[in-house]
Amino acid sequence: MTETKANNNLAELLRRSARTGFATNSPLILDRKRISRLAAERRQKISESIADAASNGSETSDTRETTMPARNMSTKSSDLFTETTGIVIGDTQQATYASLDKFNRDICECQKCPLGKTRLNFVFGVGNPNADLMFIGEAPGRNEDEQGEPFVGRAGQLLDKILAAINLKREDIYIANILKCRPPGNRDPQPEEMAECFPYLKEQIALIQPKIICALGRIAAQALLDTKTPLGKLRGQWHSYQGIPLRVTYHPAALLRNPAFKRVCWEDIQIVQAEFARLAG
Ligand code: SF4
Repeated sequence: MTETKANNNLAELLRRSARTGFATNSPLILDRKRISRLAAERRQKISESIADAASNGSETSDTRETTMPARNMSTKSSDLFTETTGIVIGDTQQATYASLDKFNRDICECQKCPLGKTRLNFVFGVGNPNADLMFIGEAPGRNEDEQGEPFVGRAGQLLDKILAAINLKREDIYIANILKCRPPGNRDPQPEEMAECFPYLKEQIALIQPKIICALGRIAAQALLDTKTPLGKLRGQWHSYQGIPLRVTYHPAALLRNPAFKRVCWEDIQIVQAEFARLAG
């Protein structure tokens, strides 16, 4: 996107802010310079984290690939989202790795937090490496820990049904979690664990470059949006994760515990589907 186009988009958003009452300092309205500065800072941080992970992970890994850009990320950046989501697309984070497979191989022995000692399997993520739609949950549960794949228990089956209802399969999307290892007893992830593990998810997002992210549950949403705002207040609007439109809904496990959430979850999913279809069309 050219500077002129970005400025035009920003001007249009500011005009819309005036009409809708959105504050002009809304997190959805990011000026170009700020996006570039944040992107540079984040690239620096993740490079350090990934380099650290690589040195702690596979000793036989080929570190030459760790400094090779995956692809020109600007190919997926566009101003397509501004009309529907009110988000100015910025420079999304540059991936450090060349591929998800290589990244997985380098971090799958991770011991950066205590969960590395108690897991049965490292749960990297699954799906289409070029997916336009990415679902992100909080952490593996017992079934996921046993099988090494996210969302394979009852909650996973429910997610499959939700996807089927919008004519999607797992192979069409990408599914990952904030944590790659199971917290014992399915307790909530601890802040220190998330701080250690989150750079891995950031790198996955940078490699996949989804056009839409759907955060499943409070913990995923709060981690991605770096907020403590309750899930109920995060739902019902578009957010931005590094220039990628992000929608929040309930975790499928919460739907199993409280079927009353299904109706609002379905509303969220339909909005995601509509945007997904608009982009595809
Ligand atoms: S949860 Fe993440 S940081 Fe902790 S050991 Fe597993 S992969 Fe490493």
